[in-house]
Amino acid sequence: MGHSDTGNPQDAGTLRGLVACEYCDAVYERAGLSRGERALCVRCGGQLYRESAHAYRRLLPLVITALILFLISNAFPIVEMDLKGVRTQTTLWGAVQALYADHMALVAALVFATTILFPLSEMLMMAYLLVPMAGHRMPAGFDRIVRGIRQTRPWGMIEVFMIGVLVTLVKLSTMAQVLPGIALWSFGALVVVLAAMLSFDPRDLWQYLESPQNTDTTDGAGQ
Ligand SMILES: [Zn+2]
Repeated sequence: MGHSDTGNPQDAGTLRGLVACEYCDAVYERAGLSRGERALCVRCGGQLYRESAHAYRRLLPLVITALILFLISNAFPIVEMDLKGVRTQTTLWGAVQALYADHMALVAALVFATTILFPLSEMLMMAYLLVPMAGHRMPAGFDRIVRGIRQTRPWGMIEVFMIGVLVTLVKLSTMAQVLPGIALWSFGALVVVLAAMLSFDPRDLWQYLESPQNTDTTDGAGQ
């Protein structure tokens, strides 16, 4: 375990030091965990939180990597389709439009939401929180964004993303061929990076939020 330079145990009274069981609402005081440990609810056995300092340090690089891969995946053609007799190479967004034009509006919406909208909003929300935090600043609307991430999570999950990709490939297989090019490979890499990113519980970000007033008053010459 590394030196704890940031997260000294806060006052027991502050909200940040408390954690509620999301299954039975029992409230506990947060205790420090070593790497790989998990805290479980005594009453119902549900998981309260995991040790996350190690994962937190990798989080911003992961989000940036995911954003770059996302841009590459969407900038290069991923399928080659026959549109009115003309062979065209198109991006994922182009494929969504083609599906829509081919009377598959529902599929188009599903593909758009699972492969573009949800992953992108998740990445942007994470970046919105993590970039100021890396500079020891408090992002505005922190709690609302954390809640937003938690709410979009079920839809931004890697399984849903994979289904979106699969549906695209299957639905397009009659009218399109997947191009084994840059977009496809960076999509594959994006899946891996997203999986790592999504394994981080956004509620754990509370722990790494520094409040400027607290840092120098607590362990100075204080009381
Ligand atoms: Zn519980």
